[in-house]
Amino acid sequence: MDCLFCKIAGGEIPSKKLYEDDSILAFYDVDPQAPVHFLVIPKAHIASCDELTEENSAIVAHIFATIAKLAGELGLKDGYRIVNNCGKDGGQTVGHLHFHVLAGRSLAWPPG
Ligand code: 5GP
Ligand code: ZN
Repeated sequence: MDCLFCKIAGGEIPSKKLYEDDSILAFYDVDPQAPVHFLVIPKAHIASCDELTEENSAIVAHIFATIAKLAGELGLKDGYRIVNNCGKDGGQTVGHLHFHVLAGRSLAWPPG
């Protein structure tokens, strides 16, 4: 499958890794939108949040627990934002489930 984040997960395309285990990978975004901006993905291909089911969604709990751990390690004590863009109108540009973690500045709400 021609999927950019599957290639990053498989090491075929290099990335600046922050955390990795058997099932997920966290790596820094190539075009950061905040002083801290990394992505967390399942290694197994899931196209988007819209593809989540009772059978495959346990990985999302693992991703969120890992984000909390990484936020502690990175000292993000002033807070951070977790973002998932789903589909065209949601602003998704890479068709492999990923959660953005943004921190290091005050983030506007609501988003545009
Ligand atoms: P989306 O718009 O789908 O929610 O987010 C995709 C994100 O992937 C964007 O923030 C973009 O900067 C990032 N991205 C796209 N290509 C690469 C890449 O090759 N390496 C890394 N590290 N990030 C990428
Ligand atoms: Zn993929």
